[in-house]
Amino acid sequence: MRDEISDIKNCKKIAIMGGTFDPIHYGHLVAAETVRMEIGAQKVLFIPTGRPPHKNNKTVEHDEHRYLMTVLATANNPYFNVSRIEIDRPGMTYTIDTIRSLKKICAPETEIFFITGADAIHEILTWKNPEELLKICHFVAVTRPGYDKESLLINLKNVENNYKINLTFIEIPALAISSTDIRNRVIARKSIKYLLPDEVEQYIIKFGLYKTSFKNKPFFTFINQKLHTILTPKRFSHTQGVAEEAAKLAGVWGVNTEKAYTAGLLHDCAKDLTREQTLNLCSEYNITLDDVIKKQLDLAHSFLGAEIARKEYLITDFEILNAIKYHTTGRAEMSDLEKIIYLADMIEEGRKPYDGIEEIRKAAYEDLDKAMYTALKRTIDFNANKKRVIHPLSLSAFEYYSHE
Ligand code: NAP
Repeated sequence: MRDEISDIKNCKKIAIMGGTFDPIHYGHLVAAETVRMEIGAQKVLFIPTGRPPHKNNKTVEHDEHRYLMTVLATANNPYFNVSRIEIDRPGMTYTIDTIRSLKKICAPETEIFFITGADAIHEILTWKNPEELLKICHFVAVTRPGYDKESLLINLKNVENNYKINLTFIEIPALAISSTDIRNRVIARKSIKYLLPDEVEQYIIKFGLYKTSFKNKPFFTFINQKLHTILTPKRFSHTQGVAEEAAKLAGVWGVNTEKAYTAGLLHDCAKDLTREQTLNLCSEYNITLDDVIKKQLDLAHSFLGAEIARKEYLITDFEILNAIKYHTTGRAEMSDLEKIIYLADMIEEGRKPYDGIEEIRKAAYEDLDKAMYTALKRTIDFNANKKRVIHPLSLSAFEYYSHE
């Protein structure tokens, strides 16, 4: 297949649009066009990522799908090209390797601008060879409306001071659209029309992207549609991650996969309620709040979640309800399903890495009780460090799994 990379040969200024593009949407396209006009670039080269180091554990849609969607989305703009350079490169893909390869193709005086989301640029000092990278190309951080510019600016200022280089950031209102939201909408069977080009929408439908066989059941559609309206986008994604992880663990440990998936989906169904809503619903559902929960009301969400799952999502299976109920505190003598939800919550692929996550992940697939011990220890230590009172259920769970 011809790589459109060679078209940049004679350009004085090129903009590189790097991203996962899972899927590409109008926000990306508007951002690329805006930056192209502002800097006066002759070409924008879209480079879908290969295996970036920071997405080590995350499931992203197949490289070929992301590449083809990017080609479809950019086909009608003569200034836009797409390159396979990262997806064809074996091993981890680092931006520095990409820019070095581009420099070999371009004339020595060609200016290279790297456009990407501000969140990604925030982390730039953790990338491979940041110093060289910041010297050989200009960075353009594109932000969504409402983005916390303050912290970005402080971070950018540090980078500027440390490296004596210039970084630009441009707010793109169309970036209110996000790939995460589009994937969530597909799961929740909501419309994605007008968020991305028709061709990309048709492609997603044709290849059934962002769905699994489980999600095709009307019952899961009902749950997902309801959750999509009450949870924040981040929490909704986490919920999907926990459900997937729980289903995988259930397969390994001989537990009913659909029950695990259901409990995973619903485990945080009460988490985004306000304090007032939580208190009112606890009172309506006769949930007694002990002294520890009264002080840390966040702990109530698992007990309340089980009741909401029963009343509003019509779950009658007590194993599922208990897995939701004890997913935050744990308890002694948990069922395998309860352990699976507790652990899936801590290790799902989208979880921000924390010290010990890999150890818990490994143990969850080798020895459930050992994983529970490690996970409870980590949670108790973490909360003790924050001077929080540990719930008696967690202490008795820890005591129990210390001897297992
Ligand atoms: P990401 O974590 O998927 O995205 C971070 C945020 O930025 C998301 O909100 C995303 O929104 C947005 N975003 C990403 N690319 C964008 C773009 N081109 N235009 C507008 N918004 C964009 O980040 P990523 O996509 O994996 O990585 C971004 C780029 O940084 C890639 O080229 C990657 O290779 C590079 N990178 C390199 C290293 C390294 O060399 N070590 C490390 C990290 C990242 P959407 O979800 O809506 O796109």
